[in-house]
Amino acid sequence: MSRRTGSSQRWRARQERDIYVEQATRAGWRSRAVFKLEQIQAKERLLKPGSVCVDLGSAPGSWSQLAAKLVSPGGRGVAVDLLPMETIPGVEFLQADFTVPETVAKLKQMLGGRHADLVMSDMAPNISGNRVMDQPRTMALLTDALVFATEVLKPNGDFLVKAFQGEVIDVFTRELRRHFATVKTIKPKASRPESREIYLLARTYGM
Ligand code: SAM
Repeated sequence: MSRRTGSSQRWRARQERDIYVEQATRAGWRSRAVFKLEQIQAKERLLKPGSVCVDLGSAPGSWSQLAAKLVSPGGRGVAVDLLPMETIPGVEFLQADFTVPETVAKLKQMLGGRHADLVMSDMAPNISGNRVMDQPRTMALLTDALVFATEVLKPNGDFLVKAFQGEVIDVFTRELRRHFATVKTIKPKASRPESREIYLLARTYGM
C-alpha cells in the first residue's frame, strides 16, 4: 500500500467514525466545521439578525451557510476562498487569494461602504512540517486577517480567527489585545482533540 493510499484510507475511516460528519451530512451542512462555529455561537452570540459578516477561507461553505441563517433578516455575508464555493443565498462570494492586495480591495467594494460586525477566518496556511518556514507563514496569514479586520470592522465589532497552538499564539494574542477589549482562546468540542487548531476570539474592536 502506498503511503498516500494509506493516509487517505485512514482519513476516510476517521470521517466515517466521526459523528459530526454524519450529522452535518444529514442536516445539509457542507462541512463538519459548521459545528465549531455553532458551538462558539451558542456561547458567544456573535451573529445576530441584521449583522454583516465576512468569512475568510469560506469553502466549502458551512460557516457561511450558518452565518446567512443567523444574520437573516436584514444581514449579509461576504466570503472569499482560493477554492470555488457553491452559491449561498445572502452571501456574496469571491474566489481569490486573500493575501493579495487586490482581493482585499475587492472585498471592501463588496461590503459597499458598510462596516462588518464580525470578521471570521477559518484559513490555514499550507503547513510543510518545517517550523522555521511554517511559523512565519502562519503569523503572516494571521496578521493579514487582523489588518483587514481593523480596516472593515465597526467600532465594537468582533474578530474570530483560527490559529495553531505554538509560539506565534502569544505574540499574536498580544497584538489582538492592542485593538480589542477582550481576547480569549476557544477549543470547540467539534475541533478534533488531536489537532493543534484553536480559535482566538477578539471582541469589541476599538476599545
Ligand atoms: N469554514 C469553512 C467551512 O465551514 O466550510 C472551512 C474552511 S477550510 C478549513 C479553510 C479554507 O481556507 C480552505 O478552503 C482554503 O482554500 C482557504 N484558504 C487558505 N488560504 C487562503 C487564502 N490565502 N485565501 C483564501 N482562502 C484561503
